Amino acid sequence: QAKESGRGTTRIFDAAMSQKVCARQDLKRDLAFALEKGELRLVYQPIRDLGSGRIATAEALLRWRHPEKGEVSPVDFIPLAEETGLINAIGEWVLEAACRQAAHWPADVSVAINISPVQFRSDTFPMKVAAALARSRLAPARLELEITESVLLADSEHNMRILHDLKAIGVRISLDDFGTGYSSLSYLRLFPFSKLKLDRCFVSDIGRSAQSEAIVRAVADMGHALSMMTTAEGVETSGQLDWLRANGWSQAQGYLIGRPAEADVFGALVAPSGLRDLEGAVPSR
Ligand code: C2E
Ligand code: MG
Ligand code: MG
Ligand code: MG
Repeated sequence: QAKESGRGTTRIFDAAMSQKVCARQDLKRDLAFALEKGELRLVYQPIRDLGSGRIATAEALLRWRHPEKGEVSPVDFIPLAEETGLINAIGEWVLEAACRQAAHWPADVSVAINISPVQFRSDTFPMKVAAALARSRLAPARLELEITESVLLADSEHNMRILHDLKAIGVRISLDDFGTGYSSLSYLRLFPFSKLKLDRCFVSDIGRSAQSEAIVRAVADMGHALSMMTTAEGVETSGQLDWLRANGWSQAQGYLIGRPAEADVFGALVAPSGLRDLEGAVPSR
């Protein structure tokens, strides 16, 4: 098609393409030094337990402050880190930093971190998790590892062994972005997940589509039947929150509960004198 559209168009297309490729290469190169230059940090998004009303968990989310480009989204740099293998070093740093941070919170608050499928390829991953827990003295049950279906897609025998090793350590495993993959249901037969996190595209349909509501209701029932906790992602309105509570969801996460917060802000929220029980009181900065 590029040929048909004539020389001028082709040249513009090529220029745009190569500019994009260059930008990616630049980011990749910069990412290699981001860790040692201290440009990466974790922010913590509160997750509310709908039974007790308390903030029960924080999801650690990576942030990269690039010296020239400003904040780069993990959606843009995680894939680059996975391509270069840098995700292993970055992932290890996330694990260490999140455990160290969570060890300062009250004992009934846990931390959730996102694990890339690439990290699963390494046989030593469970050992690294155990080491981070030992160093931080964080109780294993206070660490949740979020994985997506892509982990179960590839080399399932190896990944299954890693998952069981992790479970033996005592950490909890959550299935993230549930409902967006191709065969979500079949994965639930493969491994006893502690928690299922419903992707936010379903939550945004609450109050708008009876069809989606029927699915969201059924997922909560299924989670309950399988003794899994159920967390709805991307809760933005009180209407959605009320609906989820009425339909048996155990936890809610989203901008309504709180935006991802800097470590000190989240720490103050869950401190004994904090505001963790108050709805909608999570400060952001
Ligand atoms: P995720 O694990 O599904 O994380 C939830 C994402 O939804 C976060 O985006 C969060 O800021 C956003 N979010 C939360 N509540 C709301 C809401 O109410 N409305 C909307 N529109 N969005 C909401 P974020 O921080 O940009 O992270 C994007 C993805 O990057 C994460 O998706 C996760 O897959 C990945 N990621 C983040 N940190 C890490 C990490 O340390 N390691 C790895 N491997 N991946 C990470
Ligand atoms: Mg996640
Ligand atoms: Mg998710
Ligand atoms: Mg996601």
